[in-house]
Amino acid sequence: MKIKFSLLSLILLSCSSQAATNNQPKIDPYTYLLYGAKTESNAHINVKTFTGNIGNYGYQPSIEVSTSTAGQTNEYSVTVNQIFNGIADLKQTLLKPDGLTDDDFIDFLAHQYVPKLKLTPRSLKNGTAEVTEEDTNIDTVNCDFVGLFDSSNSKVFETHNVPEDGVKYQSTFSCTSDALQKNDVVYDISLDYGGIVFQPHFPKETTKGYRIVFLEGENHFSKETIPNGTVKPMVYLNYSFKDVQPEAIAAHPTGPNTQFKYFIDKASGIAEYDPLSERITIENSLSAVIDSLSALGYTASAERVDTKNEANLIFTKRNLPPHVRAGAAWDSTLNKNVIWIDNYDEITSGHFNIGNVYQRQSPIITHEIAHVIGLPHQQENITSIVSGADYITGDKLAPSLSANKQNIVFSYVDSQSLHSLSE
Ligand SMILES: [Zn+2]
Repeated sequence: MKIKFSLLSLILLSCSSQAATNNQPKIDPYTYLLYGAKTESNAHINVKTFTGNIGNYGYQPSIEVSTSTAGQTNEYSVTVNQIFNGIADLKQTLLKPDGLTDDDFIDFLAHQYVPKLKLTPRSLKNGTAEVTEEDTNIDTVNCDFVGLFDSSNSKVFETHNVPEDGVKYQSTFSCTSDALQKNDVVYDISLDYGGIVFQPHFPKETTKGYRIVFLEGENHFSKETIPNGTVKPMVYLNYSFKDVQPEAIAAHPTGPNTQFKYFIDKASGIAEYDPLSERITIENSLSAVIDSLSALGYTASAERVDTKNEANLIFTKRNLPPHVRAGAAWDSTLNKNVIWIDNYDEITSGHFNIGNVYQRQSPIITHEIAHVIGLPHQQENITSIVSGADYITGDKLAPSLSANKQNIVFSYVDSQSLHSLSE
């Protein structure tokens, strides 16, 4: 009897133990991964806005805005080109224990990636190209996230492949508002990735890193390229080059560089007294830039110095690729801005300055100086000294603040970029 009782207890004990294991709630993979991401100090994915390569930088927009088809004039599609980094590391960190699949990880990423795009309106100050801080009566536009797409236009998380580091993906948003049709309105773009895993490469990207400008045919911008009455959105960067692409041209670390101490490299072949010397074009271009900046209300100066050491801007001649007449670069060894002028100018068959008999400023040199100030390239169809390199004339030039000084270099869009840089 005694033995029987013991055996019964043992059976009951093992039964209840079995039942407890079966009923114990299993932690779901999403909660498990979220907990892991929260506790691992470096578990995040770096999101970088794609800026094109150095060669065609700026002509490949980071953010594309396309207008709707006819009949749906209030709908806009905004696409942000992005590159993620740290996905592989995050996967390795979080999937250490067995039992979690790629699909669990993809599901986790899909739920973590909840970007929000907001367009905050600002108005152009009447009669100038300046963007005002004042609130307008126009509502902030909220956009809906459509999805993250790969190069073959498939939705990334729905393909059940883990997204790859260093590959370009596109986040697309759909924005709807009557206000988007208003003229002379500039929208600051705020982009926030939500979740805890996706983090912007530059903190600025979640605030006012970019701007959309909506233009109409009757406006001052790009007049002849936009048919009368057509609303066309434009996007331009609100970054200095240093922020966007450190190896490219850098603005002064403390803001736009408008105080030039320039050195002309005579040893490279820039003659001092030859009437055809590039020196004359360089100095005319610099004065045009300085006067124009002053006309727009900025403090600007140019002083020639005798040594490279004293300079913050060096003009030098060298061989450049065919049909490249000049270039600007941040020389990280010298820690200075350098503007190169081609040794041989195919367009004028020889001397760069030969076509410049009237000794005007050269739009090519002013374009390069604009980069040194910190202005990045603009889309080709925007009238800007940093899109094409041609003289900007008439009502495309930003209006001067006083009659004493004339702006002869910067367009309306340039003026807005300068304003953005100095904010
Ligand atoms: Zn350029």
